[in-house]
Amino acid sequence: MATNLQAPKGVAEYVPPNSAALLKIRDALLEASQLAGYQYVELPVFEDTQLYVRGVGEATDVVSKEMYTFEDRGGRSLTLRPEGTAGLVRSVIEHRLDRGALPVKLSYTGPFFRAERPQKGRYRQFYQFGVEAIGSQDPMLDAEVISVALAGIEAIGLKNCRLLVNTLGDAESREVYREKLVEYLADFDLDEATQERIKLNPLRVLDDKRPEMQEILKEAPKLSESLTPSAKERFDQVLASLDALSIAYEVDDRLVRGLDYYVHTTFEFVHDGLGAQAAVGGGGRYDGLLATLGGQDLGGIGFGMGIDRLILATEAENLGLADESPVDVFVLPLGEEAVIPGMKLAQDLRSHEVATGFAFDQRSVKSAMKSADRSGARFAVIIGEQELANSEVTVKDLRDGTQQNHSLDTLATWLKGEIQ
Ligand code: AMP
Repeated sequence: MATNLQAPKGVAEYVPPNSAALLKIRDALLEASQLAGYQYVELPVFEDTQLYVRGVGEATDVVSKEMYTFEDRGGRSLTLRPEGTAGLVRSVIEHRLDRGALPVKLSYTGPFFRAERPQKGRYRQFYQFGVEAIGSQDPMLDAEVISVALAGIEAIGLKNCRLLVNTLGDAESREVYREKLVEYLADFDLDEATQERIKLNPLRVLDDKRPEMQEILKEAPKLSESLTPSAKERFDQVLASLDALSIAYEVDDRLVRGLDYYVHTTFEFVHDGLGAQAAVGGGGRYDGLLATLGGQDLGGIGFGMGIDRLILATEAENLGLADESPVDVFVLPLGEEAVIPGMKLAQDLRSHEVATGFAFDQRSVKSAMKSADRSGARFAVIIGEQELANSEVTVKDLRDGTQQNHSLDTLATWLKGEIQ
């Protein structure tokens, strides 16, 4: 016997009934972004490897350890996208979307790939929805981007997400801070990987979640104390904008996030019901990224929401987004002559936006009724010889077992009213 094939290790795979949660969450986020004027871009799933090396940063975990990189048949080095911003910015530059009205406001969604150690909420293929707004430095834009993520979270129905915000300051603030941090860390006996990280980008050490590092970092100098007056003023403006929009937040001065391109505002949404992988989404400002990738010197800000973790969050809050009953109505043809009229009836109901299933394989009434019950439908519509002759059907309410006859003419409208 052939061995059963399985999905590769660590990939997130969604099958019914839970797959409905993925669609609902994605659509809620997409709609929230569309209401704020963000337009959709469908991006390639793989890109030139150099895009991530240059755009995300060679020293980041994502680029140095987690990329799925391969050579194609033409000898080009390609990488399955580990994140969305670099690809979107590349697309903006390539299609000259930054030459029209600014800011350009775009969204994307789909699968992303990182060769991580799989665990709950951390997969090798996972799903994100993200937006990017490029070409404006207005602090109110930072607040808008955050408000779009929040509107999506609220539309999903989640109650227990918290917003963390921080600023990484401008280049000057970071330069001053970098020196202070390196000086502080020099007093400790750190492992080789951390030493290496300090050389490449010491701020990333703040991201280290290991308890022994957290202990060392407790007393570390704070970035907020090294901000230039203008960086501080900008952050204050962002916070004032959030206050004005009644958006609750906590300032978390350790929030640096894992990608090198961030400056000024960074933020993360965390959910307290998720354990170790608590971040359901995050983002920030990336004012140098366009220029780094060969575009104009324009700033941008965006977020990436992790749909997989949002699904887990909805489960933790018992929101019940899974689709236990894909149809509301189930049509049962009795006898051979009823099959075609039965399927035509199903088609007609569907065209009236009534989700309708059908008993295939001409089974006995009993087994067809069993399928109707299993489908989760509210009503079974039985169509047989006698019903055909009278242009009627028998409608059985599967909740209470009551049965009544209905004229075919008014059936769709009646059912629609009942199932709403
Ligand atoms: P990042 O680009 O790392 O900030 O990711 C943005 C969001 O995507 C995170 O807050 C997570 O919700 C989600 N995410 C990132 N990596 C993974 C992963 N390996 N598995 C599942 N979700 C992820």
